[in-house]
Amino acid sequence: MFRASILTLFPEMFPGPLGLSLAGDALTRGLWSLEAFNIRDHGLGRHRAVDDTPAGGGPGMVIRAEVRAAAIEAALPPPDDRPRLLMSPRGKPLTQARVRELSSGPGVAIVCGRFEGVDERVIAARGLEEVSIGDYVLSGGEIAAIVLLDACVRLIPGVMGGAASHAEESFENGQLEYPQFTRPRDWEGHAIPDVLLSGDHARIDRWRRQESVRLTRERRPDLLDGGPGGKVAGE
Ligand code: SAM
Repeated sequence: MFRASILTLFPEMFPGPLGLSLAGDALTRGLWSLEAFNIRDHGLGRHRAVDDTPAGGGPGMVIRAEVRAAAIEAALPPPDDRPRLLMSPRGKPLTQARVRELSSGPGVAIVCGRFEGVDERVIAARGLEEVSIGDYVLSGGEIAAIVLLDACVRLIPGVMGGAASHAEESFENGQLEYPQFTRPRDWEGHAIPDVLLSGDHARIDRWRRQESVRLTRERRPDLLDGGPGGKVAGE
């Protein structure tokens, strides 16, 4: 089973949206599990301090290495072969290919940063893989962790149900998905493209492939070159 362990200063943020809809149903059905651990339990002194001022000066606070390490040791006793991720704007951008890899493994341990981040020494010493969900800065790693888990959980077999398929979704074949339509046939003077109502599945497939390429070329030409979210060579 896919097991997710989260290390955070705000365990009450979990499961949050992951307790609803597809991910929430799957959690209730035992298709994956989620545990959130409070880093503050390993804080120092009467006030359970977890952070300190940055060495060398500068704004903000940094989470102390020994506090972070103690939280990791308590939450992830060996043997634990799950990837240890640190949500970080400096990390490698998350892609659908990485999501697919993670979702087919034993699960993930996710460390959520706050303040200015985490003491650099603990990242290397505890083998944390930095993962970014995009080129912008959030106030904490929790929402980024929720994004990553949502993307992983929906790929776990049985979560989306038999009828649902993600094989044609955006990024699965290095392209964006084709446009979707449903009833009514005419809406505010706009009709569904005739080809989709033709019943000719070969023509429909061809139209969808062409539309995928057109949209990808217009919006994400980097994907066609095998860019960050694109098809990985040899896949
Ligand atoms: N000072 C850091 C920097 O400039 O790289 C930003 C720290 S941010 C205010 C606090 C925490 O939010 C980070 O440690 C990280 O866990 C999380 N975070 C912020 N933006 C993120 C992103 N784009 N992807 C993943 N995590 C992010």
